[in-house]
Amino acid sequence: MSITTEAPPAQSRAKGPAPLRTGADFLASLDDGRCVMVDGERVKNVATHPAFAGAARSSAKLFDIAADPAMRDRMTYACPETGKPIWRAYQIPKTHADLKAKRLASETWSEVSHGLIGRTPDHVSNFFTGYAAVPEVFAQGGQQYADNVVNFYGRMRDNHQWMTYAIVPPQIDRSKPAHQQTDPTLYAGVVKETDAGIVVSGAQQLATAGVFSDWIYVSCIHPLRPGDENYAIGVAIPANAPGLKLYPRRPFALQAPDAFDNPLSSKYDESDCFLVLDNVFIPWEQVFIYRNLQVCFEQWWKTPSHAYGNLQAQARYVTKLRFMMGLAKRMNEATGNDANPAVQIQMGELAALAQTVETMLEAQEIRATIDDKGVIWPCRASLYAVMALQSENNPRMVDIIRELTGAAMISMPSSVKDLQSPETVGDVERYMGSGVMGAKERIALMRLAWDFIGSEFGNRHQQYEKFYGGASFLVKQNMYRCYDFKRATAMVDRELAGE
Ligand SMILES: Cc1cc2nc3c(=O)[nH]c(=O)nc-3n(C[C@H](O)[C@H](O)[C@H](O)COP(=O)(O)OP(=O)(O)OC[C@H]3O[C@@H](n4cnc5c(N)ncnc54)[C@H](O)[C@@H]3O)c2cc1C
Repeated sequence: MSITTEAPPAQSRAKGPAPLRTGADFLASLDDGRCVMVDGERVKNVATHPAFAGAARSSAKLFDIAADPAMRDRMTYACPETGKPIWRAYQIPKTHADLKAKRLASETWSEVSHGLIGRTPDHVSNFFTGYAAVPEVFAQGGQQYADNVVNFYGRMRDNHQWMTYAIVPPQIDRSKPAHQQTDPTLYAGVVKETDAGIVVSGAQQLATAGVFSDWIYVSCIHPLRPGDENYAIGVAIPANAPGLKLYPRRPFALQAPDAFDNPLSSKYDESDCFLVLDNVFIPWEQVFIYRNLQVCFEQWWKTPSHAYGNLQAQARYVTKLRFMMGLAKRMNEATGNDANPAVQIQMGELAALAQTVETMLEAQEIRATIDDKGVIWPCRASLYAVMALQSENNPRMVDIIRELTGAAMISMPSSVKDLQSPETVGDVERYMGSGVMGAKERIALMRLAWDFIGSEFGNRHQQYEKFYGGASFLVKQNMYRCYDFKRATAMVDRELAGE
């Protein structure tokens, strides 16, 4: 059994916030002994391994942007205790202007990858910001858990930490609850308690960007039943904890060595990690929920955590849709179809879907409400309305682009080498350009489009947009809980009463 966990460096709160981390600091921190398994082998250093180096460099830019004095106001706020700069993601918002400032910071980070890195460091940090805003939910399990969550939030905030999460049990047998699986240690759960902490074993899915994060939050958003108490936990685990193994799905960057041919897969494959925990020890101060079904459920819905985290997710999605619109427009221009009225109608439908998401993002802010402690909560009805339709609207948008491009993305040469070889360059340059751009420019554009919607990277993104916020039937249930049925039925009742 493992008995210690190494905290990531620079974790002291005593001296107040640490200096903002740079991209170089972030890249250096990845070489910390974390156990990432690819193709049956342990990765020596995530920052330099070909599967992850491109996305690591892209992620490093996020840290540099936040540390740039010119971006201070956009990306950070003054720590309430010391006045030093802290990432906006950790700001507990009190006003509509605070909420907007947080959204703009997320927008800036999302633009680094055109919205293609989903779990930037502002996603799960916003969940912890929501927990720290309403620690009473955690106090239902004992005051110490509320204290732990507030202290841990402060520790992450002051040290500019990146956390990701794995909050869904593995899909082993969904017909049975956690405690009735064939082996009680298949799902991540408590196997031992000591004076110093708890020991957790089992598996959990699916920590997107887990290979790059400082910490992984292991909890459960999946419905749990009485008898499942061992799995009703909320714990913070350092990515290099002894006993923790990360299994990323197939890294697309390994099949995408050339940035010209694979412009997105080579730079923005954030990875999604299946976790295996083998007797991982977690000190009590990193335990926020302990064998408590009610707190495990309420953490998502009775704190603003889910709303803050998904406000970031929607800001990121709006950026991605903007990029998608730009791509579609440039492709129509390249094929000479841009002025065709039929094409403009299809583009109008695409634009309507994209604009709806953007407007619903703003609605979350405009319709936000302030609770009795002065904390502002984004409007969850607006959030879940747009999220609930995402699993249907996103494939519709991708399909419109497929319609518009015909074979343009496919009738391209095999690789950049065809632009270099004397045997092929003549044909490529003569036949593969368009009326408005040369062959190299057109091939680059179509490669971008293919990587966006057609490549393995593009297809994983479609799965991501369907599932990152949970299966759509669950999001629709959230919407059901948030809709103002009282007002709606009152209208009907008044009419029936003849008023
Ligand atoms: C690319 C990607 C990235 C992800 N990133 C993260 C992450 O960072 N952290 C994390 O914790 N999780 C992440 N997830 C996991 C995600 O949270 C889960 O995939 C999601 O919650 C759905 O759970 P599941 O995959 O176990 O599907 P299941 O719950 O098994 O459901 C699969 C399908 O079965 C059907 N179904 C099952 N039960 C019902 C029901 N009661 N009513 C109606 N239909 C039903 C539905 O069609 C549903 O879509 C990610 C997933 C993907 C695909």
